[in-house]
Amino acid sequence: MAHSQPLTPEALAELRERYRAERERRVRPDGTRQYLRAEAEFGSYADDPHAGPAAEREPVRDSVDVAVVGGGFGGILAGARLRQQGVERVRVVEKGGDFGGTWYWNRYPGIHCDVESHVYLPMLDETGYVPEWKYAPGEEIRRHAVRIAEKSDLYADALFSTAVTSLTWDETAQVWIVTTDRGDEFRATYVVTATGTLSELKLPGIPGIEKFRGRTFHTSRWDYAYTGGTANGGLTGLADQRVGVVGTGATGVQVVPMLAEDAGHLYVFQRTPSSVDVRANRRTTAGDVGADHHGWARERRDNFLRIVSGESVDEDLVADRWTSSAALLEKLLPSFSRRGGDPAAFEAAYEIADAAKMNELRARVDEIVTDPDTAARLKPWYRYACKRPTFSDLYLQTFNRDNVTLVDTADTHGIERMTEHGVVVGDTEYALDCLIFATGFSVGVSGIHSGRLPVRGRGGILLRDAWAARGPRTLHGFTSNGFPNLIQLGGVQSAGSVNYTHVLDEHAVHAAALVAAAQAESAVVEPSREAEDAWLAALAVNAPDHEWFHAECTPGYYNAEGRGRPNRPTAYPHGAAAFHALLERWREESLAEILRPRTSARA
Ligand code: NDP
Repeated sequence: MAHSQPLTPEALAELRERYRAERERRVRPDGTRQYLRAEAEFGSYADDPHAGPAAEREPVRDSVDVAVVGGGFGGILAGARLRQQGVERVRVVEKGGDFGGTWYWNRYPGIHCDVESHVYLPMLDETGYVPEWKYAPGEEIRRHAVRIAEKSDLYADALFSTAVTSLTWDETAQVWIVTTDRGDEFRATYVVTATGTLSELKLPGIPGIEKFRGRTFHTSRWDYAYTGGTANGGLTGLADQRVGVVGTGATGVQVVPMLAEDAGHLYVFQRTPSSVDVRANRRTTAGDVGADHHGWARERRDNFLRIVSGESVDEDLVADRWTSSAALLEKLLPSFSRRGGDPAAFEAAYEIADAAKMNELRARVDEIVTDPDTAARLKPWYRYACKRPTFSDLYLQTFNRDNVTLVDTADTHGIERMTEHGVVVGDTEYALDCLIFATGFSVGVSGIHSGRLPVRGRGGILLRDAWAARGPRTLHGFTSNGFPNLIQLGGVQSAGSVNYTHVLDEHAVHAAALVAAAQAESAVVEPSREAEDAWLAALAVNAPDHEWFHAECTPGYYNAEGRGRPNRPTAYPHGAAAFHALLERWREESLAEILRPRTSARA
């Protein structure tokens, strides 16, 4: 269907049929079981290439005010906001060798954040830092994470290269006992979990994956010792090498142009093409972003959040492809404000806007890619919110190079098998020296929910068991009855956004306020069951019904690889901006209701 064709009812029907057929071609019977959790099943893929083997140290056996599980932006911001509240002993426990989380692990060539740096980097007002690029490279973001941790004095008490192995509430002492894989066993009055949503890397369970004798690694554990170079390129170790990359999501789109620059030959194994919109990265000045007064960064990120949460604003400060396509994110984010009106009319208008946007993105492929067959295979045939949108001014251009081959694996549901020498798709074996997996992460799976990190509350009850029968029960997503002084960050039953660090910062402010109020009263934080019930009821009012939308989408992690998405109220249905306002009001008016004296258990 050409870009310029009017969106008549016939054209829309044709498009619907095309999307349906493409989905059919891609759905696999094994769904989410097609993946391996690398840490569990392929130990070496998950090793830390940045820190090397952990140095010996004595186990820790002391007491702290707050244990923070995870040293990514969630944990760092929790630490920073706790410090602002005057909390003294804050211990962050982190698996990696330093702070940074996502930005510690992911250092692949070309890594950038595709959310504007001036809204993505947290605490710019507090640190006085002004990024110089509209979209920051990963290393700048990692350094900013370290900057906040240093400024907040989080290093002295932190434990790195250490994973928390259990959290157990001691009812007599009214503290949490924290154990780790380094033999530590210490006490913490409060625990904040900030374990992230993209922390477990995943590999496709390709038959024969263990047979391959070439070099292989996951993008989140980049092997610069092998490739040479840095995140800025210069991968001299790949000259004359036959390199394969599996995966064309947001990571693949950033890494492919860099590999193509230096590899002898690059094979891109694609299963589903991403939508690739304009990036337009550029240098910015403080003047461009209004960084001339205290509070500028907060204003800018609030403005961005409101737009991508579906609220109307007078001015679009960031003005990029996220904000211009914000309305189309409605189906992607369960917490997106809808403006009411006639639902059928809304859906009809929505479908037309979606088709227009996707036609524009497919036309962009034709404008850039010179070989018509390659262009045809790079076009995404699904609705905008079915897959995470990506942005690049280099990716599509890469397929015009002589040393790059696009291998479409849609008909075989991905790579069929691997051999000692390479990768098999259809009748062809692609001999490779190196195969890189840009195959992503188990989204939303934390050790707490998978059971790898057992959390035992009052009476030794496992959090996982407590939630098994009827799903999660929380107040605002943070606290749960039976789990005193446990505050979960960035979790279920709150409100998400494409600018996730903003969400984490609001959650960190909230967590720190809970701890400070409890400390001041020598109290325990624990919501009643009634408070949880009331929150669950609030989530259900006007909860969007997107089940049908995701059931019709091409497979991916948004819809459990094609199975659909259960229509359970998992998020606050009025958007992240409204959720943050609700939290602020609640802290002023109702926080005291979830504090109780240390000695009395809550019914
Ligand atoms: P994704 O899960 O998004 O993508 C994985 C890719 O691997 C998909 O293209 C998938 O194809 C492909 N794949 C999986 N199995 C096979 C197989 N057997 N054969 C061939 N291909 C296969 O991972 P990413 O690392 O790209 O992204 C992870 C997360 O990180 C996302 O949430 C993303 O938004 C985020 N991110 C954000 C960035 C930013 O700038 N803010 C940058 C990079 C990542 P298929 O689609 O068919 O399943």
